[in-house]
Amino acid sequence: MHVVMEYEVVIIGAGICGLATAIALHRKGIKTVVFERSETLRNTTGTAIFIRQNGMRALDQLGVAEPLRHMAIPVQREREVWLDKGRQKEIPIDGENLCLRRKHLIDTLYAALPPGTVKFGRQLESIKLDPNTAKHVLRFIDGSSIIAKVAIGCDGVNSVVAHFLKLKPLRMFSFGEIRGLTRYPSHSFGPEMACFMKSDNVVGRIPINDNLVSWYCKQPCVVQTDERIWKDPEVLRQSTLDMIGDYPQEIKEMIEKADANTLSIKHLRYRAPWDLLTDTFCKGTVTVAGDAMHVMAPFLGQGGSAGLEDAVVLARNMAQMGLDHNESGRRLATKCVGEAFELYVKQRRIRFFLLSLQSYLIGVLFGTPSRLRKLITIMLLAFLFRDPYGHIHYDCGGL
Ligand SMILES: Cc1cc2nc3c(=O)[nH]c(=O)nc-3n(C[C@H](O)[C@H](O)[C@H](O)COP(=O)(O)OP(=O)(O)OC[C@H]3O[C@@H](n4cnc5c(N)ncnc54)[C@H](O)[C@@H]3O)c2cc1C
Repeated sequence: MHVVMEYEVVIIGAGICGLATAIALHRKGIKTVVFERSETLRNTTGTAIFIRQNGMRALDQLGVAEPLRHMAIPVQREREVWLDKGRQKEIPIDGENLCLRRKHLIDTLYAALPPGTVKFGRQLESIKLDPNTAKHVLRFIDGSSIIAKVAIGCDGVNSVVAHFLKLKPLRMFSFGEIRGLTRYPSHSFGPEMACFMKSDNVVGRIPINDNLVSWYCKQPCVVQTDERIWKDPEVLRQSTLDMIGDYPQEIKEMIEKADANTLSIKHLRYRAPWDLLTDTFCKGTVTVAGDAMHVMAPFLGQGGSAGLEDAVVLARNMAQMGLDHNESGRRLATKCVGEAFELYVKQRRIRFFLLSLQSYLIGVLFGTPSRLRKLITIMLLAFLFRDPYGHIHYDCGGL
């Protein structure tokens, strides 16, 4: 007879947020299993990720910050350069901010989990609530099913769990972002994040260490063209160079010398800030975290850190409801899980609304050709976010 496995707590997706959530729950003695659609750990995709002070705090709570501190230099200031106006501004950055290789972050999170926590090659297809048992039947695309009392969707932008919760569809900016890594024998950029702007072009550069820098460049035509051509790294390189033909030589060299294996492009998706205020992010014992909940454009460099904060807050709430230490086989009370998830959503909503609103407005500023719209957006940003870096001071609290 075919036996359907039954689990107390299941996480879907082993990205940054799924792994962080599994660690947070594990630290609270809550046994979890993570189902990931990839056959192996997704540590070869992506280039780098800037983790702000608030994200470092969350990593500290998860107990994994220390090894990461040895993998990147702290970024201490930001320089904004307006090339066509010949103007620049230097802004000190508070606290500890590191630009990490994504691989280093993913590997470090994964290593902090008990072996066997992540089940690879399991792509969730659908979730259904069994009204008789009040448990969820999770069906995978290979035809197999499991039963889960609690399901946490950390399955990113095309989240099946978000679909189950009937969250509103995502939106897309009219432009994308090309990213890459460039290695130098030794660069002289210092611990400085720099942003070079000219008319509608934006190129950013962040050092990972004294030899390696991460960079990004706004790419306006990504949405209109055939997606397949963007798979070729040399197309990405050339289109970036074409866009920044009149940029300083050191920027052009950075793109020319970038490692082809690291070049990638991403369409920029976001959940509309106004949807974040109204959507219902949990239903009984099912909820979402990370990009599945609040994907935002990367202009603040906060999506990943916000997912790390979600992990800490979610696990803390479950523990405070007395759901911790179930590893001995104690069953979780459905009602308490539901209450913990409602509290988690309540505590997180304003935080991710404000992050999303600020990054949305910056996206509008970058994307609109209308001078009037730009002016209104600048006024809104100045009025609503008097301290544009206020978001990095946030503390998600202890685990
Ligand atoms: C260009 C760009 C630059 C960025 N830069 C920064 C930055 O500097 N700093 C920062 O903090 N954030 C940044 N972000 C945002 C950050 O990358 C994301 O917020 C973060 O990676 C989201 O992590 P996640 O775990 O929620 O989702 P994901 O990383 O998308 O992980 C989801 C996981 O779920 C798996 N999965 C998906 N569907 C299923 C399924 N049906 N069944 C099983 N598994 C499934 C996937 O394979 C994946 O492993 C950037 C984003 C972009 C696009």
